[in-house]
Amino acid sequence: MTKKIKKKAVSAILTMAFISISTAIPVKAATPPTTVQMSSTYTYDEMNMDIAELCALYPGIVSSGSIGTTVQGRSIPLVILGNPAAPHSIMIQASIHGREYIVSQTTMATVEYYARQFSAGNCQDVLSSTCFYIVPMANPDGVTIAQSSAPEWKANANGIDLNRNFPVGWEMTKGSSAPGAANFKGYSPASEPETIALMSLATARDYSCYINYHQQGNIIYYDDDLTSSVTSALSTILAATVKNINRYPMVNTSGTNASGTTTYGGFGDFILMGLQKPGITVECGSAYGIRGQSQSSSIYSRNADTWAAAARLFAQ
Ligand SMILES: [Zn+2]
Repeated sequence: MTKKIKKKAVSAILTMAFISISTAIPVKAATPPTTVQMSSTYTYDEMNMDIAELCALYPGIVSSGSIGTTVQGRSIPLVILGNPAAPHSIMIQASIHGREYIVSQTTMATVEYYARQFSAGNCQDVLSSTCFYIVPMANPDGVTIAQSSAPEWKANANGIDLNRNFPVGWEMTKGSSAPGAANFKGYSPASEPETIALMSLATARDYSCYINYHQQGNIIYYDDDLTSSVTSALSTILAATVKNINRYPMVNTSGTNASGTTTYGGFGDFILMGLQKPGITVECGSAYGIRGQSQSSSIYSRNADTWAAAARLFAQ
């Protein structure tokens, strides 16, 4: 796309988005899932069974694959929601941090929600325009460690924080100096198989945008340092569109990060700074792990309708 056309497209999106988000929409309670259980700890094995079940229940709407293999040999599942031949695509990833596994559960519940909607003849505009490429559990080893032996574990099985291992601003990233539960960026950028798998999916096609799910904070991060004005504008309007549904406040991450220090090397940095594509990081709920389990249903119902809104934003 030429710069001129891109500018025109951005301006059209901004105008349309202003019209659509200026009408306040109340938070809707999405129908509860029936395949994905919401009440107890959601394991890697349970997720794989749900993926198989949703593919069987909704052929032509839900399909699956793998984006790679973890340090401990687990396949990292990819869920494809919609028709890969659709003109637009959105990438969604959850649980790059092990202890934040509730967002795997809510992401899978959202896949089921749209599959049910689409098969009932609803939201057809979303399905015909956009295909969603979803990694519901980007760090299955870390999730399994957090669920079995170390509840505070964020890293992968090598003790490397995957969300500091991406090759954008990696050199500037601080944190722990040795492998462990959290905040060690690794000995070199993109050293981990999970990092490489996400980078490979993220660059496989021309996504309209990226949505990353983490816990905790009930906020939306939406911008970054060194983003172009176009990327910045698109991320801002994406965040505003999502905020209009889930009611999480927007936080601009230019010059800072979640913990208030200068940290790069995250998947969001790779998207915004590296690829110069719009993306948001949604920090769901007010507690992660077992303490946040009771919030899974409310996180799901607050966020379920945001995928359709994001698709409509970029398909207009
Ligand atoms: Zn996180």
